[in-house]
Amino acid sequence: MARDADCIFCKIAAGALPAAKVLHNDHAVALLDIAPAAPGHLLVLPPDHYATLDTMPGDRLAALAAELPRLVRAVLRATGAPALHVIQNNGRAAGQTVDHVHFHLVPRTAGDRFHIDWNRGPSAAAALAELRDRIAAELELPTGVS
Ligand code: 5GP
Ligand code: ZN
Repeated sequence: MARDADCIFCKIAAGALPAAKVLHNDHAVALLDIAPAAPGHLLVLPPDHYATLDTMPGDRLAALAAELPRLVRAVLRATGAPALHVIQNNGRAAGQTVDHVHFHLVPRTAGDRFHIDWNRGPSAAAALAELRDRIAAELELPTGVS
Protein backbone atom coordinates (compact mmCIF):
# COMPACT_ATOMS: atom_id res chain seq x y z
CA MET A 1 0.00 0.00 0.00
CA ALA A 2 1.66 3.26 -1.18
CA ARG A 3 1.29 5.90 1.52
CA ASP A 4 2.67 9.42 1.93
CA ALA A 5 3.85 10.11 5.49
CA ASP A 6 2.83 13.78 5.24
CA CYS A 7 -0.63 13.16 3.80
CA ILE A 8 -3.63 13.69 6.07
CA PHE A 9 -5.84 11.31 4.08
CA CYS A 10 -3.15 8.60 4.16
CA LYS A 11 -3.09 9.00 7.95
CA ILE A 12 -6.88 8.68 8.06
CA ALA A 13 -6.75 5.63 5.77
CA ALA A 14 -4.12 4.06 8.04
CA GLY A 15 -6.23 4.73 11.14
CA ALA A 16 -3.58 7.07 12.54
CA LEU A 17 -6.02 10.01 12.60
CA PRO A 18 -9.66 9.84 13.70
CA ALA A 19 -12.40 10.24 11.11
CA ALA A 20 -16.12 9.57 10.80
CA LYS A 21 -15.68 6.66 8.37
CA VAL A 22 -18.70 4.97 6.83
CA LEU A 23 -16.74 2.55 4.61
CA HIS A 24 -13.19 1.20 4.55
CA ASN A 25 -12.08 -1.65 2.31
CA ASP A 26 -9.26 -2.44 -0.14
CA HIS A 27 -10.69 -0.08 -2.76
CA ALA A 28 -12.11 2.92 -0.98
CA VAL A 29 -12.33 4.87 2.24
CA ALA A 30 -15.45 7.01 2.72
CA LEU A 31 -15.73 9.51 5.54
CA LEU A 32 -17.67 12.60 6.48
CA ASP A 33 -15.98 15.87 5.46
CA ILE A 34 -14.84 17.77 8.55
CA ALA A 35 -16.19 21.03 7.08
CA PRO A 36 -19.29 19.90 5.19
CA ALA A 37 -20.91 21.90 2.42
CA ALA A 38 -24.15 20.13 3.35
CA PRO A 39 -25.19 17.54 5.95
CA GLY A 40 -23.91 14.13 4.82
CA HIS A 41 -21.05 15.56 2.68
CA LEU A 42 -18.81 12.52 2.14
CA LEU A 43 -15.24 12.20 0.89
CA VAL A 44 -14.41 9.01 -1.02
CA LEU A 45 -10.72 8.22 -1.51
CA PRO A 46 -8.46 5.37 -2.50
CA PRO A 47 -6.68 3.78 0.49
CA ASP A 48 -3.38 4.22 -1.37
CA HIS A 49 -1.82 7.59 -2.14
CA TYR A 50 -2.26 9.30 -5.51
CA ALA A 51 -2.02 13.08 -5.53
CA THR A 52 -4.28 13.72 -8.53
CA LEU A 53 -6.58 11.70 -10.73
CA ASP A 54 -4.21 11.66 -13.72
CA THR A 55 -1.61 9.75 -11.68
CA MET A 56 -4.04 7.01 -10.63
CA PRO A 57 -4.06 3.65 -12.47
CA GLY A 58 -7.35 3.08 -14.24
CA ASP A 59 -8.05 -0.20 -12.48
CA ARG A 60 -7.63 1.39 -9.04
CA LEU A 61 -9.98 4.19 -10.05
CA ALA A 62 -12.47 1.67 -11.44
CA ALA A 63 -12.46 -0.22 -8.13
CA LEU A 64 -13.02 3.02 -6.24
CA ALA A 65 -15.75 4.19 -8.61
CA ALA A 66 -17.57 0.88 -8.21
CA GLU A 67 -18.28 1.90 -4.62
CA LEU A 68 -19.90 5.21 -5.62
CA PRO A 69 -23.43 4.04 -6.49
CA ARG A 70 -24.11 2.44 -3.11
CA LEU A 71 -22.46 5.35 -1.28
CA VAL A 72 -24.66 7.80 -3.19
CA ARG A 73 -27.75 5.73 -2.38
CA ALA A 74 -26.79 5.59 1.30
CA VAL A 75 -26.19 9.34 1.56
CA LEU A 76 -29.43 10.22 -0.21
CA ARG A 77 -31.47 7.85 1.95
CA ALA A 78 -29.76 8.84 5.21
CA THR A 79 -30.09 12.58 4.62
CA GLY A 80 -33.37 12.64 2.72
CA ALA A 81 -31.75 14.90 0.11
CA PRO A 82 -33.24 14.46 -3.37
CA ALA A 83 -30.05 15.26 -5.30
CA LEU A 84 -26.27 15.11 -5.02
CA HIS A 85 -23.10 16.41 -6.64
CA VAL A 86 -20.00 14.30 -7.26
CA ILE A 87 -17.07 16.72 -7.37
CA GLN A 88 -13.38 15.90 -7.82
CA ASN A 89 -10.81 18.70 -7.69
CA ASN A 90 -7.31 18.40 -9.19
CA GLY A 91 -4.70 21.07 -8.53
CA ARG A 92 -4.80 24.33 -6.59
CA ALA A 93 -6.47 26.31 -9.37
CA ALA A 94 -9.32 23.77 -9.27
CA GLY A 95 -9.67 24.11 -5.50
CA GLN A 96 -7.75 21.01 -4.42
CA THR A 97 -6.39 21.50 -0.92
CA VAL A 98 -5.55 17.90 0.04
CA ASP A 99 -3.20 16.22 -2.42
CA HIS A 100 -4.71 12.75 -2.19
CA VAL A 101 -7.37 11.91 -4.79
CA HIS A 102 -10.88 12.22 -3.40
CA PHE A 103 -14.43 12.56 -4.58
CA HIS A 104 -16.85 14.86 -2.79
CA LEU A 105 -20.41 13.59 -2.49
CA VAL A 106 -22.45 16.68 -1.64
CA PRO A 107 -26.18 16.25 -1.03
CA ARG A 108 -28.34 19.00 -2.54
CA THR A 109 -31.78 20.24 -1.62
CA ALA A 110 -33.79 23.02 -3.25
CA GLY A 111 -32.87 26.40 -1.81
CA ASP A 112 -29.77 25.18 0.06
CA ARG A 113 -26.69 27.38 0.55
CA PHE A 114 -24.40 25.50 -1.87
CA HIS A 115 -23.41 27.42 -4.99
CA ILE A 116 -21.43 26.61 -8.11
CA ASP A 117 -20.84 29.26 -10.74
CA TRP A 118 -19.59 27.58 -13.91
CA ASN A 119 -19.48 30.92 -15.70
CA ARG A 120 -20.05 29.14 -18.99
CA GLY A 121 -20.20 30.87 -22.33
CA PRO A 122 -20.18 30.13 -26.03
CA SER A 123 -17.01 29.09 -27.89
CA ALA A 124 -16.12 29.73 -31.50
CA ALA A 125 -16.35 26.60 -33.64
CA ALA A 126 -12.71 26.99 -34.68
CA ALA A 127 -11.58 27.03 -31.06
CA LEU A 128 -13.59 23.89 -30.31
CA ALA A 129 -12.12 22.15 -33.35
CA GLU A 130 -8.57 23.11 -32.43
CA LEU A 131 -8.96 21.88 -28.86
CA ARG A 132 -10.61 18.69 -30.07
CA ASP A 133 -7.56 18.00 -32.27
CA ARG A 134 -5.05 18.78 -29.52
CA ILE A 135 -6.75 16.62 -26.89
CA ALA A 136 -7.37 13.77 -29.32
CA ALA A 137 -3.67 13.87 -30.27
CA GLU A 138 -2.69 13.64 -26.58
CA LEU A 139 -4.84 10.52 -26.23
CA GLU A 140 -2.74 8.82 -28.90
CA LEU A 141 0.46 9.26 -26.84
CA PRO A 142 1.79 6.34 -24.79
CA THR A 143 1.03 6.51 -21.05
CA GLY A 144 3.50 8.69 -19.17
CA VAL A 145 4.51 10.84 -22.14
CA SER A 146 3.75 14.51 -21.71
P1 5GP B 1 -10.40 19.61 -1.71
O1 5GP B 1 -10.49 21.10 -1.49
O2 5GP B 1 -8.96 19.15 -1.71
O3 5GP B 1 -11.16 19.12 -2.92
O4 5GP B 1 -11.14 18.95 -0.48
C1 5GP B 1 -10.50 18.64 0.73
C2 5GP B 1 -11.59 18.40 1.73
O5 5GP B 1 -11.04 17.73 2.84
C3 5GP B 1 -12.22 19.68 2.28
O6 5GP B 1 -13.62 19.68 2.00
C4 5GP B 1 -11.93 19.65 3.77
O7 5GP B 1 -12.99 20.10 4.56
C5 5GP B 1 -11.65 18.18 4.00
N1 5GP B 1 -10.72 17.90 5.08
C6 5GP B 1 -9.50 18.47 5.28
N2 5GP B 1 -8.90 17.93 6.36
C7 5GP B 1 -9.75 17.00 6.84
C8 5GP B 1 -9.68 16.12 7.97
O8 5GP B 1 -8.71 16.07 8.72
N3 5GP B 1 -10.74 15.28 8.15
C9 5GP B 1 -11.84 15.30 7.32
N4 5GP B 1 -12.83 14.43 7.61
N5 5GP B 1 -11.93 16.13 6.27
C10 5GP B 1 -10.90 16.97 6.04
ZN1 ZN C 1 -2.32 10.28 0.80
